[in-house]
Amino acid sequence: MILRKRQKGAFEGPYAIRPGFFKPGLIVEFDKSLRSMLSYPKMTQAIIAIAKNFINLLYPLHCATCNRTLDALNKLGVCDFCLSQIKPHPEPCCQKTGLYFKRAYSACLYDGVLKELIHLFKYKKKLALGGALSGLMEDFIRDNHEIMYDLDIITFVPLHSRRLRQRGFNQSNMLASSLSKEFDISIRDILEKPISTRHQNELSRGQRLTNLKNVFKIRDGTSVKGLRILLIDDVMTTGATLSECAKALLSNGAKEVRCLALARGL
Ligand SMILES: [Zn+2]
Repeated sequence: MILRKRQKGAFEGPYAIRPGFFKPGLIVEFDKSLRSMLSYPKMTQAIIAIAKNFINLLYPLHCATCNRTLDALNKLGVCDFCLSQIKPHPEPCCQKTGLYFKRAYSACLYDGVLKELIHLFKYKKKLALGGALSGLMEDFIRDNHEIMYDLDIITFVPLHSRRLRQRGFNQSNMLASSLSKEFDISIRDILEKPISTRHQNELSRGQRLTNLKNVFKIRDGTSVKGLRILLIDDVMTTGATLSECAKALLSNGAKEVRCLALARGL
């Protein structure tokens, strides 16, 4: 219990936070007894806001890209100015011939602030940025709701097991999980990449298409028959990765594969 009862007659109210309770890195979790005591939502929100302001005064949060001090209630880890610099993709829907998907959507332009945020999220393990990044995809889906029309499941581009071990997480899985929760559509871990390949960004455009040929498959014991699937990736370049994943899904009986990437270059 983090609260103690104040002395009788104290004008601030009956409860106060124990001195020395707040320490660097502390995550505040309200226990059951406190939740039942704070039965008024507005009062609870006000107390949480005051506590967050207090913690932020001692240990200020900073924007991941420009290092500005953030508002205590900022949950994204990025300031409003930096978020406003992220550009929507000028051609969000890409229909390429020769690739297995019919349509692939890209929410934003892979450039500037967003490029930096994705780099921090993926390679520097700034996982707290996941909320800001999936938020960009959520806003995009709200403006392009046909993406979710009659959808059965969401899945994501897999990593090879060695890369997953090195990184500790799959960024596309994290983005897809947020979308699943937000739009209440189930997420399934269907695809795997049993063959290790060279990094796509080390290769030429032509090499990228052959580098990934037939390296994705659906996991043993899974069925995708008749399903309309939304396939999520973080960054789309040539579309080769999404196309090869779509091929694995469609050749196993999926009815339709739509693709959505957080970002794509010009
Ligand atoms: Zn900023």
